[in-house]
Amino acid sequence: MATLPQCAKCSNTFCQRMHGDEVSKNVLPKFCPMKISEITIKAVTERYGQENVRKIYVPATVTEKEAYELVRGVRMAVRPRIKELVEFGKLIHARKIGLAFCAGMRDEAARIVKVLGKSGFAVASVLCKCGGIDKTKLGVAKEYKIGKASKYEAGCNPVLQAQLLNDVGTDINVIVGLCVGHDMLFTINPEAPVTTLIVKDRLLGHNPVIALYSDYHKGIVESQKRT
Ligand code: SF4
Repeated sequence: MATLPQCAKCSNTFCQRMHGDEVSKNVLPKFCPMKISEITIKAVTERYGQENVRKIYVPATVTEKEAYELVRGVRMAVRPRIKELVEFGKLIHARKIGLAFCAGMRDEAARIVKVLGKSGFAVASVLCKCGGIDKTKLGVAKEYKIGKASKYEAGCNPVLQAQLLNDVGTDINVIVGLCVGHDMLFTINPEAPVTTLIVKDRLLGHNPVIALYSDYHKGIVESQKRT
């Protein structure tokens, strides 16, 4: 079996501090991709010359730089993510932005539409329940409905969200709180590049990182589902 890259276990992160060619292989951990996947790294570096990669990558990196400014001599972050999205959109000359949003985020979606509209973008938005199709029609057994099994319960429809945004030719699509898995289906179906503005966390106010820090949530995170 191929050795798994394990960057999350690396304490030195040489790649961050030194040019890859200058790091001695001896100091790299055994799970380091710079040690085990040199050919892949070389081949992938060349892909950045391709137009479809460059047209996203360069503006993304400019957006990254512009997210910081010197404030009283200290380099500090100065843009919330929604502002980064606006500035990135301008850099790639996007005209139309698509929102794929969760039914539980209608208020947030309306606010986002307002911000993007004021910034000069045309905005298309599609709610996850669009189509009004019962979950059972989408292949889900009725006992997996959240409410009563016998009652209509609209299924999230990420493939439709993607298709409708394709149909109107969006330049960027934005995920606003789609469920885990539905967001995956949305991501693999649209023609335009996808970014996430709000990641859904029903329990933690859409701030999933809290579960990693808080002892109060440790029990939930580590508990096993009883079957
Ligand atoms: S690429 Fe290598 S040096 Fe960089 S974080 Fe991963 S394991 Fe560490």
